Amino acid sequence: AAKGAGRNRFSYFTPALQVAALNRMRLTNDLRSAVKGEQLKLYFQPIVHLKTGRIHKAEALLRWQHPQRGLVSPLEFIPLAESSGLIVDIGQWVFNESIRWVQRWRRMVHPDFQVSLNQSPVEFQREGGSYDVWLRALRQADVPGQAIVVEITEGLLLDASTMVTDKLLQLRDGGIQVALDDFGTGYSSLSYLNKFDIDYLKIDRSFVRNLAPESNDMALSEAIIVMAHKLGLHVIAEGVETEQQRDLLAAAGCDYGQGYLFDKPLPAEELDAQLRAQAGAVTEP
Ligand code: C2E
Ligand code: MG
Ligand code: MG
Ligand code: MG
Repeated sequence: AAKGAGRNRFSYFTPALQVAALNRMRLTNDLRSAVKGEQLKLYFQPIVHLKTGRIHKAEALLRWQHPQRGLVSPLEFIPLAESSGLIVDIGQWVFNESIRWVQRWRRMVHPDFQVSLNQSPVEFQREGGSYDVWLRALRQADVPGQAIVVEITEGLLLDASTMVTDKLLQLRDGGIQVALDDFGTGYSSLSYLNKFDIDYLKIDRSFVRNLAPESNDMALSEAIIVMAHKLGLHVIAEGVETEQQRDLLAAAGCDYGQGYLFDKPLPAEELDAQLRAQAGAVTEP
């Protein structure tokens, strides 16, 4: 019987793996045409200043509207984009779109409005890729680097190769700011907060989810916020879904919140309409 089961397992897994590989290949091909066509859409999720409730920033989040499969998650297609090299064109497109929108929102909402965008480790570390093209695009559009925040993850800083350091310096020389995304999920070595010039720390939503008075996650969040402020960083909490979470974070001194309580990621045009309403309703001092 054992022999039979072994044979079964073997014959079961081989086709399954083949199917998965075939699926990946098909999806990668589709992605290639998606980049050329109009299937990629940039959504933006508001980042809210907790003290005033106003939208100060927005995170660019990529969406792929697949003609047959519907909306494909970036968690699924970014790895394909990386292994196929398509990530370079995609990243550039995200950047160009972000410049276009942030330019408009800085005029419309506030001159300090920022758009943040994600750089996966593979994207950031790719050989030969420098951020020259980005900095040139900013100059051409007459948008200051400070309008853009690049979100990276902790793993990248652990690597600490000269390539990583050089690229971070290049971004900073161009005025672009840096956020540490998903903080608390990786190794969370505190030493690199000092070593690298980082502007924002994003508390991962796994901490925010279980926030309650006197809870361990509350203590951790409070400690992260105090530490970040002492090091001169601003704090953004991810995944804020309830008013209680928002109030606890605000009481702990957290600067910004992002999450379904405020809004889901929205098509750019929809956020634009909201921002226009916000700008119309309040006069800046
Ligand atoms: P991330 O950068 O940590 O982005 C936050 C994710 O949390 C987004 O998922 C967002 O939709 C989701 N989220 C926001 N608020 C809430 C909330 O209140 N509750 C819950 N449960 N989730 C919330 P999304 O859009 O599916 O993106 C997933 C990841 O894909 C991102 O995680 C980011 O790492 C990556 N990604 C997205 N766009 C890009 C891109 O343009 N380039 C690269 N390299 N990666 C991207
Ligand atoms: Mg992010
Ligand atoms: Mg995040
Ligand atoms: Mg996250």
